[in-house]
Amino acid sequence: MDVRETLNLLNVAPPVGDMPVRTPIDGSEIGRVAYDTKDSLDKKIAAATAAFREWREVPAPKRGDLVRIFGNVLRDHKEPLAHLVSIECGKILEEGRGEVQEMIDVCDFAVGLSRQLYGLTIQSERPDHTMQENWLPLGPVGVISAFNFPVAVWAWNAALALVCGDPVVWKPSEKTPMTALACHALFHQAVLRYGGAHPGLCSVVHGARDVGEWLVDDPRLPLVSATGSVPMGRAVGPRVAARFGRSLLELGGNNAVVVTPSADLGVAMPSILFGSVGTAGQRCTSTRRVIVHESLHDQVFSTLTKAINGLKDRIGDPLEEGTLIGPLIDKQAFDAMQASIAATKKDATEVFGGERVLADKYPDAYYVVPAVAKMPKQTENVHAETFAPLTYVIPYATIEEAMQIHNAVPQGLSSAIMTTDVREAEYFKRHSDCGIANVNIGTSGAEIGGAFGGEKETGGGRESGSDSWKAYMRRQTSTTYFGTERPALAQGIKFEV
Ligand code: NAD
Repeated sequence: MDVRETLNLLNVAPPVGDMPVRTPIDGSEIGRVAYDTKDSLDKKIAAATAAFREWREVPAPKRGDLVRIFGNVLRDHKEPLAHLVSIECGKILEEGRGEVQEMIDVCDFAVGLSRQLYGLTIQSERPDHTMQENWLPLGPVGVISAFNFPVAVWAWNAALALVCGDPVVWKPSEKTPMTALACHALFHQAVLRYGGAHPGLCSVVHGARDVGEWLVDDPRLPLVSATGSVPMGRAVGPRVAARFGRSLLELGGNNAVVVTPSADLGVAMPSILFGSVGTAGQRCTSTRRVIVHESLHDQVFSTLTKAINGLKDRIGDPLEEGTLIGPLIDKQAFDAMQASIAATKKDATEVFGGERVLADKYPDAYYVVPAVAKMPKQTENVHAETFAPLTYVIPYATIEEAMQIHNAVPQGLSSAIMTTDVREAEYFKRHSDCGIANVNIGTSGAEIGGAFGGEKETGGGRESGSDSWKAYMRRQTSTTYFGTERPALAQGIKFEV
């Protein structure tokens, strides 16, 4: 784990400051950064505002050129950036690579989009009139991101915002500032290859909640895209609305897989295992609940716990080949997991795993055996997201009951059904209240081509693919009269003078 060497490969000068940055791998300090002040944030937003005046005038396909070059810079630096992601947030290197690949993929998507920001032409009710719907650049976008996807979430926002004509001011999680600096340095390389751009086009601000709040309150940012926990969204949403800004909220999940009697367990179990323990249970799309037909309740619980038992020697340093489960981000995450397990023990018939491991080797880091709770029914404790590997296995009797259990939680991000019955699959898709509803693949992870996000307390925002670019632009309806007579009024209104 040579941080200096990794930063060097990314052309990032080691940052200076007084706020320590720690790796969850062993809890050691890997550097220090300086937090922004109100004044430095103000200057960065002012620079973004100035950049907007220039960038909005650049034709969208030319804006796409910069994003294409950035995608290529990322390709050239995929390995060291993936390394830094693993060091800073603790996900296994393979998933770090996947995260950087997601950045590259969204750049490709955005480049194509830069020639497809289509509006509409609308039939006018009046002669010699044309009506159009145009999409125009919105303005500087504030991005707040979570620790668990320290680079991809920014890239989803930035790639789309940039082709839409918007500068980006990014506040990464205070737990992962180094990867943000690396992204910024790589973006700067892309700008140089592109032939230059306003220095305010992309900027990074460091800090915790207070810096986030200053950003959220700034009326020069017409859109704030915030990814993180439900309490964060509950604070951010009303603040942005109070100044009539727009927010795009990507918040916590409580994702379930429904396993029906017709499920092919050879297909279902690997997805359930990855969803439950992959990324050490620290994905917004991690599988938190397995809602299983009562005839399979014992079988699914024992297959899952046996599989996790077989992974115990694959828990460890996420940079080491063969590791499948890395550490939790910090002690706070570990304590929250232990509190949830203690509460769950009152309701569950059996709880597997959950204990800390490797404490001798890494006294300042938090590695755990993923936990699985066998529940007689879904209880109140299950309704909260525990951002750690804790999966509840809950029985159901009928598909209607399964969906009632499924939809009873306040979050609505990702969902899945394991079935070979087309009727059940279609019933599930129609009745799942989540933004994502999969059939025979798990809840965890998503391709960048589809709109990503969820309903209810997950916040309702959509990022990444499909038409989510519309969130980064403003819609304008335009009517043009090209006749020579007095123009007619709409609805046939006469106003004779
Ligand atoms: P968090 O809510 O603690 O922090 C997220 C970001 O918000 C950080 O940058 C933090 O500094 C900032 N922040 C916190 N309070 C704020 C406030 N009042 N005003 C402005 N900014 C504020 O989340 P985390 O622990 O970093 O990440 C885990 C959570 O994020 C989980 O709940 C997970 O489900 C969620 N998440 C959701 C998605 C999604 O796309 N839906 C993706 C990744 C993570």
